[in-house]
Amino acid sequence: MDEPFRDELDQLRARSLLRRLREIGSAQGPNVELVGQHLVNFSSNDYLGLAADERLRAAATHAIEQFGVGAGASRLVSGTQSPHVALERAIAKWKNAPAAIAFNSGYAAAVGTLPAIAGKNDVIVIDKLAHASLIDGARLSGASIRVFPHNHLGELESHLEWARREKPQARVIVVTESVFSMDGDRAPLREIVELKSRFEALLLLDEAHAVGVIGPNGGGLAAEEKLSADIQMGTLSKALGAAGGYICGSTSLIEWLTNRARSFIYSTAPPATVAAAAIAAIEFLQTSEGEDRRHALWKNIELLHQLLVSETNRKPESAIFPFIVGQENDAMNFAHALQKEGFFVPAIRYPSVARGSARLRITVTAAHTESQIRALVDSIRRLQRSSGRH
Ligand SMILES: *Cc1c(COP(=O)(O)O)cnc(C)c1O
Repeated sequence: MDEPFRDELDQLRARSLLRRLREIGSAQGPNVELVGQHLVNFSSNDYLGLAADERLRAAATHAIEQFGVGAGASRLVSGTQSPHVALERAIAKWKNAPAAIAFNSGYAAAVGTLPAIAGKNDVIVIDKLAHASLIDGARLSGASIRVFPHNHLGELESHLEWARREKPQARVIVVTESVFSMDGDRAPLREIVELKSRFEALLLLDEAHAVGVIGPNGGGLAAEEKLSADIQMGTLSKALGAAGGYICGSTSLIEWLTNRARSFIYSTAPPATVAAAAIAAIEFLQTSEGEDRRHALWKNIELLHQLLVSETNRKPESAIFPFIVGQENDAMNFAHALQKEGFFVPAIRYPSVARGSARLRITVTAAHTESQIRALVDSIRRLQRSSGRH
């Protein structure tokens, strides 16, 4: 019998674009167990090493005793348990925002929020390298989508001019990230805020890779630069070590999303235990121990930057280090070779990044040791030399 999708899968395989899941038999952390092999893990977004932290475990265990596992219904029906309410308060306080709403994931936050705040008469102006969840949310909204080249202020400005000229009645929303997920660089936030204010647009800023890492209390890039976005998005699943996404902003925005964000309304609430773990992470970020952990992370970022990045006049911007290889199969081979040497570093390929810009995506965390970082770079350099690539 003809099996559907077989040919399509074969084609992906032939182009080195087939993806498969790899089973991890341990908690997240600087060391993981991958199908029986112990690896040093440079693949996760658990930047502060909180995913398996005792405080989060204890908060989750306590909540599971009290609230059980399933939330039973969507938040608006009967799924709002006390930890969900406490989480939203904790997010708003930590982010210094009037209000917050939590979603099942960052992905759900994006695809729920953009269609709720923009419709077919509106305009979304979005950075070319914005995360898939933001692109999907923009498409789902039915708004006119204008894409500007990555971090290109001139093109952003001309799209905003176009929107104001051609669609004077439209709500215009600028969508970007503070730290880009596959390149690790930052948006020129001050200039973007200046432009969106001049054109009376709204800014949706996704801080997924900045919260926990950048800014006072790990509040993100906007907090660091004392700027504000109208719609602040983030995830509780990366530096915060738990799961779930959030939006914060004005009380009317949050009330509107509670009424209109379909991924919030039509999906069962996440387990209260996950919310409890996220609260523990947010509390930890605001302690002096949390600050020490952030310093430990930045010490590791500086070390990896110094060892790996040749343009030393550049400053490291985040915990994400793209090591561009180019061809998809070369990136796969490089990642396999590193795995043989004991390192888990993912090869990132199309469609996560442009064709021909396949890369190793190295992420460093506060929990790595100096010798683990040095050993990784030694292996990369040795493999580069033996493959004749420099
Ligand atoms: C990971 C990520 C998301 C999605 O967050 P999840 O909680 O993992 O669904 C959204 N935006 C960006 C930029 C991300 O990197």
